[in-house]
Amino acid sequence: MNPIWPGGTIGIIGGGQLARMLALEARRMGYRIAVLDPDPEGSAMRLADISVTGALDSLEAARSLAEHSDVITLDTEHVPAELLERLEVLKPVRPSSNVLRIVQDRFEQRRFLEAQGLPQVRNAPVSSAESLRAAARAVGFPCVIKTRRSGYDGKGQARVDREEDLGDAWRTLGEAPAVIESFVHFDREISVLLARDLGGNIRFHPIAENSHRRGILHTSRVPARIPTELARQAEQFGFRIASALGHVGMMAIELFLMRDGGLLVNEIAPRTHNSGHYSFGACATSQFEQHIRAICGLPLGDPSLLRPAVMLNLLGDLWRDGSPNWRTVLSHPTARLHLYGKSPASIGRKMGHILILSEDSDEAEEIAQTIAFELEQSVAIPLERRSE
Ligand code: AMP
Repeated sequence: MNPIWPGGTIGIIGGGQLARMLALEARRMGYRIAVLDPDPEGSAMRLADISVTGALDSLEAARSLAEHSDVITLDTEHVPAELLERLEVLKPVRPSSNVLRIVQDRFEQRRFLEAQGLPQVRNAPVSSAESLRAAARAVGFPCVIKTRRSGYDGKGQARVDREEDLGDAWRTLGEAPAVIESFVHFDREISVLLARDLGGNIRFHPIAENSHRRGILHTSRVPARIPTELARQAEQFGFRIASALGHVGMMAIELFLMRDGGLLVNEIAPRTHNSGHYSFGACATSQFEQHIRAICGLPLGDPSLLRPAVMLNLLGDLWRDGSPNWRTVLSHPTARLHLYGKSPASIGRKMGHILILSEDSDEAEEIAQTIAFELEQSVAIPLERRSE
């Protein structure tokens, strides 16, 4: 297939922050952007050359996007695979409907990982009240129930410590088809970030070391503090996953590093990823440019790290009494502010992030923690005193 050169139009289904940062990089490179989102004021919609307002599962809206686009990509994996299959006859869709069919269903994803012989937490499917108890006994307690579809940022998940709480936990998830997993005590969480091009070549961004709060990513740090041989093994897992899926574009694989030194695959995301935001400022090629290169049939860029970095997520909680105190953030000269232009700022919603670069990654971490602390403190300060 001929490459799609700058001047061409990249269509994105979903207009969240991933689409927005993709749009920023695409525009820098001279591409045009078309975005489909239900919210005309969505994060990426205002940066789009062409915006299509419509539901993410509307075939009519997706067809209209396809008409304007040379290639179609995704901001979220929660777009029906059947819809993508219908678009594939019109324009190249990357990632493909085949990849989505496996990845957007947690149980299909687990079965795929098992077929690849990759290590993961003990898990079992749940489809009825009867299967719930048997599945929980098979994986053991504590465990976590995760809905098969539509979960993200800890949503659609419930931890269960005792058998008698199983029914209530599943009811809070609407008794939706689910996977039950043993809840493991890991030492660290990391993510492998890779891009696969049309010819099957794969390049890795540096592995990120991640910390979560309430199931939502809090910080990512690079380089990750893990032994080289484990990093190579994690990349090998990523290589096998992306190759077996025939994926094209960026992909993130989240893994647990266990206390005994083993690795367990937690989750595959067939797109750019929050834990790769550090690359937008800290790497020669950001994950967004890399994704554009891959889906447009261009050679992959150099993903090497220019400087150690820590990325700190900014959640809607910080907007509780109005806009956070940006003076606090920007008084740190190494802090780079990214805001996604989202409204309203609800609790847990990803509103932006801060990237801190430093020759010394411990120092970057310290600055990130200081900024997080200062921002959390400032939420308690009344708005009228913010500018003091
Ligand atoms: P997920 O949506 O599966 O990525 O889960 C969000 C976060 O919840 C993960 O990054 C972990 O911090 C935590 N988590 C998820 N599954 C498990 C598990 N089986 N055992 C322990 N922690 C988990």
